[in-house]
Amino acid sequence: MQEVFDNYKDYIMPTYSKFPLIFVKGKASRLWDIHNKVYLDFFPGWGVGNLGHCHPKVMQAIRDQVSKLIFIPNNYYHLPQAKLAEELIRNSFTGKVFFCNSGAEANEGAIKFSRKFGKGRYEIISFENSFHGRTMASLAATGQKKYQQGFEPLPEGFISVKFNDIQAVKQAVGNKTVAIMLELIQGEGGINVAEKNFVLELRNLCNERNLLLIIDEVQTGIGRTGKFFCYQHYGITPDIMTLAKALGGGLPIAAMVVRKEISDCLGPGMHASTFGGGPVVSKAALAVLRAVKKEKLLTNAAKMSEYLFSKVNALKVKHPLIKEIRGIGLMIGIELAQEGKTIVEKCLQQGLLINCTHENVLRLMPALNITKKEIDRAIDILDKALTG
Ligand SMILES: *Cc1c(COP(=O)(O)O)cnc(C)c1O
Repeated sequence: MQEVFDNYKDYIMPTYSKFPLIFVKGKASRLWDIHNKVYLDFFPGWGVGNLGHCHPKVMQAIRDQVSKLIFIPNNYYHLPQAKLAEELIRNSFTGKVFFCNSGAEANEGAIKFSRKFGKGRYEIISFENSFHGRTMASLAATGQKKYQQGFEPLPEGFISVKFNDIQAVKQAVGNKTVAIMLELIQGEGGINVAEKNFVLELRNLCNERNLLLIIDEVQTGIGRTGKFFCYQHYGITPDIMTLAKALGGGLPIAAMVVRKEISDCLGPGMHASTFGGGPVVSKAALAVLRAVKKEKLLTNAAKMSEYLFSKVNALKVKHPLIKEIRGIGLMIGIELAQEGKTIVEKCLQQGLLINCTHENVLRLMPALNITKKEIDRAIDILDKALTG
């Protein structure tokens, strides 16, 4: 173990704070460390593992494709990308897809698309406590100073306004505004849920002022909230939706989906990504989308959501330390009256992996195929950690 830690220390840039754990194997919601200790994973892959670890259908798809063709560039055609795009559109809205490799890159694409669409209008309104990625423009769109400090000057043309405040948005719209960008549930910002009326008014405002509504579903997408995409809870359609995290079942693939009528605004040579939508990652993503349907994971997520919410609500009655519980589906935030770091560490010692975001919000995002039994075990550990 020490050798691994030493290698990281000597050869890997220290951009992540880490737990001293080495994982070697995963299956559904279980992970094994190097000592063969088993963990229950209630935060699989930072939102990547909506199907849990090593889903058999995803493994099979990857194996099949790897043995045929690993890569072919985007100046040729291949089957997996064609099928994946069709499947994405079937489950979302009439549109066209651009494939890339990460959430930040998908959002970067949405920003570039908006500027091209705007023909001189370039300003994008985003929200306080939002998170859209670490590349320069997605960082400029991110409404949290802590991520931006030291990297100025950031690209121009981004305005950050208060979340769920339609008046603030209306005041910020000017003759240079081209788009409004938001997460419907702010993930890194502390699991803050957009209010229904706010989103409906945003949609109306965008229609009136010819603005693009960009919904960042990098964390909320692919069944996380009990629907394929979170916007489907709101009865609206975005102009642009960005996806990443859970899309590839653990492989890096991201997508920007754009409403069909405007989608040809980016033509040949205007935007590109060498690896975007390659055969292996596309095949894996196709397997993910099919498994969500075939295994009725949206239904299970909705059911397990109800069960998990009832359990954490019961914890709230018992532990005054819990201030508020927020979320939709299996994206749940538990706001504490104190920092959450020690609770996360106590859970980890007992074999439960959870996350804490925004200092004091415990974040639970179990796989969509989580079971009642696994929820019971997690709640039991959490209960003890909160008692200590
Ligand atoms: C994680 C995340 C991103 C960034 O995705 P990367 O793949 O890390 O670039 C963007 N938006 C949201 C909402 C995210 O949760």
